[in-house]
Amino acid sequence: MSEKIPPEYKYCPYCATPLETRYIEGRERAYCPRCGFIHYRNPLPSVGIIAHRDGKFLLIKRGREPQKGVWAPPSGFIEEGEDPEETAIRELEEETGMKGEVEELLGVYRNNSKVYGDVLVITYLVKITGGSLRAGDDAEEAKLFRYEDLPPIPFRCFTESLKKARKILEGRNEQ
Ligand SMILES: [Zn+2]
Repeated sequence: MSEKIPPEYKYCPYCATPLETRYIEGRERAYCPRCGFIHYRNPLPSVGIIAHRDGKFLLIKRGREPQKGVWAPPSGFIEEGEDPEETAIRELEEETGMKGEVEELLGVYRNNSKVYGDVLVITYLVKITGGSLRAGDDAEEAKLFRYEDLPPIPFRCFTESLKKARKILEGRNEQ
């Protein structure tokens, strides 16, 4: 059996027939011989939020794995029917109590997570426009940091996006 994360289905999620492995479109994939279901494994789309105010960046202390207890920018999975920019604003408010506006796309990254498997991370620069700071869902703490004072941040998607964000703010004389 595969040891992939998330694990491969054993039974068809539509008709409960045991799945077989077949070579389909260039890869071995779990396949239902009864209804033809193919388990395509795709990255999970998510958003990372590089939110700033007064030249400082907003981080949360993560309340869940991966990297529980570690400081990182707010982030979350895109819900069905949601635009990625809407996810950014929703997650920012849920995790920190702050309201914001998306300013620009910072980058698109692949992150291999021990919990979720392959994750696609879209990061945005978000200007904080209001709200009151509090640690919300999935966060133990929320706090604004100067770039120079940032604690160690996990994941390349976040470190590179923070670096890009700093350059952008410097260019605007906001740093
Ligand atoms: Zn089936």
